[in-house]
Amino acid sequence: MNQESQQNTQKEKKIAYNLNKLQKRLRRNVGNAIADFNMIEDGDKVMVCLSGGKDSYTLLDILLNLKINAPIHFDIVAVNLDQKQPGFPEHILPEYLNSIGVEYKIVEENTYGIVKEKIPEGKTTCSLCSRLRRGILYRTATELGATKIALGHHRDDMLETLFLNMFYGGKLKSMPPKLISDDGKQIVIRPLAYCKEKDIEKYAQAKAFPIIPCNLCGSQPNLQRQVVKEMLQMWDRQYPGRIETMFSALQNVTPSHLCDPKLFDFKNIQRGAVLEGIEGDIAFDKAEIPTTPVIQDEDDVNDYTENGIINFKAVE
Ligand code: SF4
Repeated sequence: MNQESQQNTQKEKKIAYNLNKLQKRLRRNVGNAIADFNMIEDGDKVMVCLSGGKDSYTLLDILLNLKINAPIHFDIVAVNLDQKQPGFPEHILPEYLNSIGVEYKIVEENTYGIVKEKIPEGKTTCSLCSRLRRGILYRTATELGATKIALGHHRDDMLETLFLNMFYGGKLKSMPPKLISDDGKQIVIRPLAYCKEKDIEKYAQAKAFPIIPCNLCGSQPNLQRQVVKEMLQMWDRQYPGRIETMFSALQNVTPSHLCDPKLFDFKNIQRGAVLEGIEGDIAFDKAEIPTTPVIQDEDDVNDYTENGIINFKAVE
């Protein structure tokens, strides 16, 4: 074997090794999120909403693998809503879904036409569009007998939503990993809740999913979300570990040290009472703020060192 082909073989091995590592990490993150929130139970029929973007392809792929290896039995049905946007390549998803042999349904509803008719030119169309989409997906889940509806939102979507709600909505609120519809009939799950967008991007690229562009509706991208996304990306570059730490904070809430009387009964605090499970008396102390970010996953550390940032210490 000459030197060039040796180098190529090494390169291929490295690519396969990295993909395997990435796949394992995504599967582990999805498995952990499912377990932590009891997202999928024995006998469930999970309707995976497939838009044709990187996130939903990854979600379907990982769930199909979990289905094979999980200790419980559950079924999967993929659903795509064809909203009749101009230029939507109708053949791509059926071809892909047939090729992987998963049960699926394509629902055709001209929500694009409705939105165009109802919303004046130049006004934002997303809120009506997503309301229509939600109604159709809930109805489809009922028709298919699905017990869970899985969406492809990931960790970064959740953090972006947290900041959007803080900056513009005056609420400390993100996107829940599991929620129940207002009428109590549908349970929506987000199994990618612990997955980083960067991992999903790399995975979708490596697996060469046939991505459908997401700008077919012609709507302007949500400017505020874009700004928050860029802010988080900048922090991620400047302060490695900050995103992980912030996500940890979402899982580590101390209502007694916030300011919402609905969450904590401040009014009835009485002398002599011992409050179980709340985080200490710090009234006279300077709050101790760790100076190193919290890392949840050993692989995160490796990612940073791979990126050339070696001077980084993970703390539990
Ligand atoms: S971006 Fe387009 S398809 Fe997506 S919610 Fe907004 S209007 Fe609907």
